[in-house]
Amino acid sequence: TKDLDGLTALVTGGASGIGLATATLLAERGARVAVLDLAPETVSEPLVGFTADVGDDASVRAAVQQAAEALGGVDILVNNAGIGAAGTVEDNPDDQWHRVLDVNVLGIVRTTRAALPYLRRSDHASVVNTCSIAATAGLPQRALYSASKGAVLSLTRAMAADHVREGIRVNCVNPGTVDTPWVGRLLDAAEDPEAERAALDARQPHGRLVTAEEVAATVTYLASPAAASVTGTAVAVDGGMASL
Ligand code: NAD
Repeated sequence: TKDLDGLTALVTGGASGIGLATATLLAERGARVAVLDLAPETVSEPLVGFTADVGDDASVRAAVQQAAEALGGVDILVNNAGIGAAGTVEDNPDDQWHRVLDVNVLGIVRTTRAALPYLRRSDHASVVNTCSIAATAGLPQRALYSASKGAVLSLTRAMAADHVREGIRVNCVNPGTVDTPWVGRLLDAAEDPEAERAALDARQPHGRLVTAEEVAATVTYLASPAAASVTGTAVAVDGGMASL
């Protein structure tokens, strides 16, 4: 179905993994889609790429403006760019805390702030943030990453409350462990990547990693007019990891 015909979408971190799958599906469903990424040169038609570092306010503002002008507005904003960090509170120095919180949390603040003037002009405005099961799960060795995603969850709810009267919906998706280049890089760093992948599959309640396309399908639903009464929610796409 082309239920997003005539709508426009920006996807941060849309050059890889969950963001690329989401940008691709939004376009298949009829939206005109711009990808905002550190490395947008790999995206191809019909997606258009713009260079942006969500960790830098001037960069985000310029890219959102350029993309909005190229597409003719912004109806859908997918705040997906994010970075990881492993460790306990003893492992990550302050500058790493600042960097990860800056990208994962403030990145959403900056991009949304820049996009709000355009979203206000839309009749189908919605924001979808990529959060994580780490927001609530209490994962070992993920203190900083979990804190950043916990902030994304509360930010999603607060933004939903602030903008519901303006007709702008805000939701988030909480992926479990997703088969993306990010997870591929973690596996490649292991001593025996294949054994590690099998162990990772076995740790998932439904026996395998989540696919980026499965996360994209939920993001696209939340962004679509079908979800017109859905705001302030977090949808888990995790094979049951957070709830079983
Ligand atoms: P990925 O590394 O495959 O893709 C991330 C993309 O974001 C890359 O294209 C990268 O260039 C871009 N990016 C990174 N920093 C950026 C910045 N400062 N400005 C603009 N773009 C930037 O990762 P992924 O696995 O697809 O993860 C995407 C999102 O999903 C992240 O927010 C991550 O926290 C979240 N997530 C991933 C998983 C997983 O298991 N892969 C699980 C839960 C949540």
